[in-house]
Amino acid sequence: MTTKNNLPIYWSPDYVLDSGVETRTKSGPLAKILQTGEIPSVEMIAPLPATREELLVIHDEKYLDRLINGDADLARSILASTGGVRDALDAMFVHGRAGSLSSGLHHAKRDTDEGFCYINGLALAALRAIAKHGAKKVGVLDTDSHCGGGTFQLVGENEKVTLADVSCNSYDIWRPNSDRHYLEVVNSASEYIDAVKRALAHIKDVDALIYNAGMDPFEDCAIGGMPGITREVLKERERLVAQWCEDTQTPAMFVLAGGYGGANLDLDGVARLHLPTIREFARILITPKSNN
Ligand SMILES: [Zn+2]
Repeated sequence: MTTKNNLPIYWSPDYVLDSGVETRTKSGPLAKILQTGEIPSVEMIAPLPATREELLVIHDEKYLDRLINGDADLARSILASTGGVRDALDAMFVHGRAGSLSSGLHHAKRDTDEGFCYINGLALAALRAIAKHGAKKVGVLDTDSHCGGGTFQLVGENEKVTLADVSCNSYDIWRPNSDRHYLEVVNSASEYIDAVKRALAHIKDVDALIYNAGMDPFEDCAIGGMPGITREVLKERERLVAQWCEDTQTPAMFVLAGGYGGANLDLDGVARLHLPTIREFARILITPKSNN
């Protein structure tokens, strides 16, 4: 049972693969740091894996079955980390804020994986907020360095979903076609924080926010990094996002999204990049409205 004012964070060792891309390795060292009590009010909770039925809401049956019956370790990791997204979404409506140490979501399309992403947990969470929690308007904020074209494909047409995407790179770009859509690909670090402020201004009157908190804009990341986007810039970004959630009293959940090593950044360093998101979410207090 989560103690009042603790920040519930979903994770289990099943999320982690021993090798390969950081998307599926970094949550291990990050969980280890959190388990030492680095951020006092964090409460780690193991989720149940997502089920095939839950995933059929957003993904094609043949694609899903290939994935679930394919590489057993990959399937275990994906189902566990998607279960964490689902449980964090549910927890957010009880505790005001929550998170899951999940990565690899926003490029996944209905019938294919893309860019290290297999299951689009952001789309899944948005639809669950509407169907299960009665949300009338859900925001998805994506600050991963790359664009969230998978999320747009899956829920862009949904009139209850507001999308805001600030990217440093046009990979998986999508074309806004509604006033519910905001996409900005920045060209230099000096534009970055103002772009995040514009994205937050775009998300208005939502009942819940799903935040894809990518750290791959960091200048030392070999994939996605932009010169001049320092740790301080990303700390400020996380402060702005969390403060917006608290000021507007919008229930919010985060996932990790991108964040990759580089010549000056090892796996532990990548894991530590994500700490400011968790620190800021632990700092704020949000009282969810009753959704009966
Ligand atoms: Zn990325």
